[in-house]
Amino acid sequence: MKKIVIIGAGFAGLHIFYKIRHLIGKKIDVTVIDKRSHSLLKPSLPEVAFEGAPLSHSLVELEHTLASKGATFIQSEVSEIDADNNSLRLSSGVKVEYDYLFVTLGAIKDYDAIKGFREFGYSVCDDTQAQKLWERVKTFEGGKVVTGAAKSTWGTRVDAPPLLAPCEGPIGEIMFMLDFYLTKDKNLTRLDDFKIDVFTPGEIFFEDVGDAPREVVGKYMQERGLTLSNNKVLSEIGKDFIAFEDGTKMPCDLAIIIPPYSAPEVTKNSKIGDEKGFIPTDTTMRHLDYANIFAAGDLTALAQPKLGHIAIIQAGIAAASLLKELGEDVTIPPHDLEVFCIMNMGGHNATLIVSDNLYGGPTDKATYSPMSKMMKWGFDSYLYYNKGHMPPDFALEMTDKLVKLF
Ligand SMILES: Cc1cc2nc3c(=O)[nH]c(=O)nc-3n(C[C@H](O)[C@H](O)[C@H](O)COP(=O)(O)OP(=O)(O)OC[C@H]3O[C@@H](n4cnc5c(N)ncnc54)[C@H](O)[C@@H]3O)c2cc1C
Repeated sequence: MKKIVIIGAGFAGLHIFYKIRHLIGKKIDVTVIDKRSHSLLKPSLPEVAFEGAPLSHSLVELEHTLASKGATFIQSEVSEIDADNNSLRLSSGVKVEYDYLFVTLGAIKDYDAIKGFREFGYSVCDDTQAQKLWERVKTFEGGKVVTGAAKSTWGTRVDAPPLLAPCEGPIGEIMFMLDFYLTKDKNLTRLDDFKIDVFTPGEIFFEDVGDAPREVVGKYMQERGLTLSNNKVLSEIGKDFIAFEDGTKMPCDLAIIIPPYSAPEVTKNSKIGDEKGFIPTDTTMRHLDYANIFAAGDLTALAQPKLGHIAIIQAGIAAASLLKELGEDVTIPPHDLEVFCIMNMGGHNATLIVSDNLYGGPTDKATYSPMSKMMKWGFDSYLYYNKGHMPPDFALEMTDKLVKLF
């Protein structure tokens, strides 16, 4: 029996678990380790922050979910990875050994890298931040809002698109959902009562897609009086301003930020990270230096942008790589990435974006419609009610084909 350890039970870790669990007790035993008791479904956090949705719908309980399917769950922080000796150390001091390791720890949202964030800034990237933001949004009676992503930096060991922002989809949700809430629910008037300014560290906003999605987003930004500033690298948030590295400042009563993404300390301090701590793999998601380590999701150096859809593609590949190694009759899917996301825009509308332009492909589409919103609702609900289990592959492939067709 081979001992498989999965560290991190987010999008990627849970998807790998569901893909390999049929071999539990036959060829493998599986231990999943996460510092949280519940996996956090981040795509529904904007609803927590701007619609007051209950957080419970963004949480998947781990211990019972995994134990009922034959795995062992350990709730603990992984504090050390000793890849040369096939072992981990947990913060409790316990040592865990493995034959194969899946590293799916996601990325750290580094709020402390921004001066003034803890005192004056808001975000939507985790459960604490999303709930805190809703408390602020509920009582917001007007003023200047500024939103944008801070600049992130990546390692150089693998060839991946060098994006300045990890992913700007959540910024789209922040600006459109907040605009909807303030105008429709609070009856405030744009430009008179409030103004939303958007910034991006990039030369272009939404640098991970092509022109079609940018035009759709740009059209609705213009309609709603949302202004955009490019090439703005965030340096500080103050009581009533937000400052950038080029020396400029914007007046700001409410700053909502996507912080820089970084690798967790445990991979930065191990031998398995690149110079920034992200995990370098080949396109079968196998570690470049350690053949018994696989990785998937936000923590991999190849995942650009940092997107759940990409975490799932990579998790499928990583799981297939292990299954093949164990002698199973599987084909390892190609590492063909695409940006696929549904951006909630408040009310009954959302914009569905699918684009592979970043990777040299021809697809580049965006559809603004209530149908996109229904798809988002359906997908988020499926994940929640099925304990983080993705819809079956055939359903995902059919959706992908239909979206590209229309
Ligand atoms: C606000 C927001 C909205 C988003 N919306 C979308 C969307 O609509 N569509 C989309 O495709 N993507 C979306 N994303 C991106 C998506 O959520 C991420 O790409 C995805 O969660 C990455 O999955 P992962 O498994 O790599 O990491 P995660 O889901 O972050 O999981 C990592 C896990 O590792 C655990 N962990 C970390 N460090 C340790 C440690 N040292 N020891 C033990 N456990 C540890 C964490 O507790 C966590 O459970 C959104 C992101 C945000 C922030």
